[in-house]
Amino acid sequence: MTTPEATRGDGAHHSHGDPAELVSLGDYRRDVLARVGALDPIELRLLEAHGSVLAEDIVAPAPVPGFANSAMDGFAVRAGDTGAGEVLQVIGEVAAGAGDPPEVGRGQAVAIMTGAPVPPGADAVVPVEDTVETDGWVRLRARAQPAAHIRAAGEDVTKGETVLKAGRRLRSADIGMLAAVGRALVLVHPRPRVAVISTGDELVEPGVPLEPGQIRDTNSYTLTALARETGATAFRQAIVPDNRRALTEAFEGALSHADMLVTSGGVSAGRYDLVKKVLAELGDVAFAKVGIRPGMPQAFGFLAGTAQSRQSVPCFGLPGNPVSAYVSFEVFVRPALRRMQGRPDLNRPRVQAVMEVEVASPPHKVEFVRVRLQHTSAGWRARPTGEQGSGILRSVVDADGLAEVPADITRVAAGETVVVHLLTDELGSTA
Ligand code: AMP
Ligand code: MG
Repeated sequence: MTTPEATRGDGAHHSHGDPAELVSLGDYRRDVLARVGALDPIELRLLEAHGSVLAEDIVAPAPVPGFANSAMDGFAVRAGDTGAGEVLQVIGEVAAGAGDPPEVGRGQAVAIMTGAPVPPGADAVVPVEDTVETDGWVRLRARAQPAAHIRAAGEDVTKGETVLKAGRRLRSADIGMLAAVGRALVLVHPRPRVAVISTGDELVEPGVPLEPGQIRDTNSYTLTALARETGATAFRQAIVPDNRRALTEAFEGALSHADMLVTSGGVSAGRYDLVKKVLAELGDVAFAKVGIRPGMPQAFGFLAGTAQSRQSVPCFGLPGNPVSAYVSFEVFVRPALRRMQGRPDLNRPRVQAVMEVEVASPPHKVEFVRVRLQHTSAGWRARPTGEQGSGILRSVVDADGLAEVPADITRVAAGETVVVHLLTDELGSTA
């Protein structure tokens, strides 16, 4: 069978990697992830901690609620005094927030509001709907059971109870629970600060007219958006030209405020591909040809951190082609960012899908095919989104997922099943 690889002739060897030089995707990814650890926990205010992973068990120092209180607007009474047609004397009222409610004696009632403490002597609340009040007296329509409409102290959380465990990623309700148990600050793994740097003499910002030979910098926008979507605090740095001095200064500058550095471009075999050289000079960064398409040339390693935390900074040198950079982010950077956040779930959901058309794939490389997914009664179906070149961003825009064609497979026949990595965290959005 003729593969696209085999038809390319001489140049294919150089640009697509000698099989003997290729590191398998699985090995490379494992090595990268084994070297990345969770960021040291810090104390954050509750809303800043939303979405972060807890680094401590949260134990309630006091019961919630802290005191018995009314679940209804009505009258606090002694249950034994109640019955259909009984009339009680209203001796006062207690509103939410009142600290010193009047005592309820025999034959008496106290008007009570939702959330107000149950007065001493009372053991039930009669909802206002079940009463008629006139001139300081209240007539009851029915008997009240002891404890009726009373929220007991500690019925939500008991003193000493562990309400949230370390390792949990804080959801909205958790933030409320932290407030409920009185926490103003909470120990979490912080959002990684990610510096994103595009490199290339040809790159120009959107909004600036293009001169001959120039193209838009797309990668720093895509990669910054991807990093933010992964929970990072990401920022794009200015475009850096293919110049050793400029690259060195940009990378060193980023280290003062970043927990991770992501660059694109300059890691291939061109005369001006200086990124891998500069990164290797600055720290423990190595270059590899990974058995993946798109995205073969990769640089990864660590630079010494100069930011406050002084943790060493993982650094990804991604290839410059926009789809290569994108796929590299999904496969390597996203799981690394999740690990830095202390998340145990490093991958987005994956589904099995039936490929609707035949797909050819290079030997020795895992191919990621951009596909549109469709949910049917028989399961998921996948269809390539069109031209799969590594510069075709359109086919990423149209894709719901990346179908993984294993390295030892050069052809997926129509009707065969593939694993598809979703490009979203929600399954439903592709249906
Ligand atoms: P490189 O990896 O630097 O050899 O770049 C490979 C290809 O990707 C070239 O065609 C570059 O012009 C293109 N490229 C590199 N960086 C970017 C970028 N930030 N945005 C868009 N295209 C880029
Ligand atoms: Mg370049």
